[in-house]
Amino acid sequence: MSETNELKSKTKVLIMGSGPAGLTAALYAARANLEPTVIAGFEPGGQLTTTTDVENYPGFPEGIMGPELMDAMRKQAERFGANCVNGEITSVDLSKRPFKIITGNGDQVEAETFIISSGATAKMLGIESEKQMLGYGVSTCATCDGFFYKEKEIVVIGGGDTAMEEAVFLTKFASKVTVIHRRDELRASKIMQERALKNDKIEFLWDSVVEEVIGNKQDGVTGVKVLNIKTDETWIKECEGMFVAIGHTPNTNLFEGQLDMDENGYLITNDKTSETNVPGVYAAGDVQDTRYKQAVTAAGTGCMAAIDAERFLEENE
Ligand code: NDP
Repeated sequence: MSETNELKSKTKVLIMGSGPAGLTAALYAARANLEPTVIAGFEPGGQLTTTTDVENYPGFPEGIMGPELMDAMRKQAERFGANCVNGEITSVDLSKRPFKIITGNGDQVEAETFIISSGATAKMLGIESEKQMLGYGVSTCATCDGFFYKEKEIVVIGGGDTAMEEAVFLTKFASKVTVIHRRDELRASKIMQERALKNDKIEFLWDSVVEEVIGNKQDGVTGVKVLNIKTDETWIKECEGMFVAIGHTPNTNLFEGQLDMDENGYLITNDKTSETNVPGVYAAGDVQDTRYKQAVTAAGTGCMAAIDAERFLEENE
């Protein structure tokens, strides 16, 4: 994101977040001559900047590096007049239009429409080695990275539906998948549990937590240090990859009490549109997606949000 771009105090379309949803919304809004403003957020480029090769984004037969894809999306939006600015939104007032948005620097922006594409953050275990090896054998997305683990042994952390789904999916590639769960009982729905439990390639390590990821950026992951919380024993489980599947948190704290959300904090959109319960406010990407969570679906909903905002502006000006 260019350091020199300045935040304007008024904008027709303000976009929160610069992942595939936000930048696609920016591209469409810019091509509709709406000169959108994008406030990049705490992780410019979004979750894809934490992956390496992206092989499932259409149009790149050889794959593309996540950060490179996001850089290209930003440049494409900027080429048509999107103003992408580094920074974070710290508070919003959506009670009346124009909406008032305050950034971390204390700047205030008045926005005629507001597209929220602030994404979701994969929950992590919170250990240092996991952070170091993210993108080098530690992943939070089986759909994105499973392909790199053909005939390899991997571990999946978690006991919910996401962990079961990812473990089953990963058996298509891996020679063996070991699910490491901190309790002796799964949280996942019965049907997902059954699918995982009856899969010959999946093993379970109960009452266990990962204390350290072993490996380095050159050779990748070689194992994980596991603690059995009942016996207090630690040991090294050899593996070549670790998938953390302990849930996602949608980045929606700012909207509590202002926008409708489900019980997990995801924004609720009206059937088949990007509209939230506040006219002129739209949601796109993972912040409203509990089901698909893919870069390409995020981009698709970003396009929807820009078209919805454009139509709203036409009807209300
Ligand atoms: P959940 O919150 O349901 O499960 C998270 C799992 O991770 C739990 O087993 C939890 O353990 C474990 N966990 C959480 N924090 C830690 C930690 N710090 N260390 C170790 N383990 C941890 O999240 P999911 O992402 O699995 O699911 C979210 C929602 O999405 C659910 O409603 C689910 O049903 C839905 N979903 C549905 C799918 C489908 O229907 N196909 C697919 C995927 C998700 P513990 O059990 O001990 O709390």
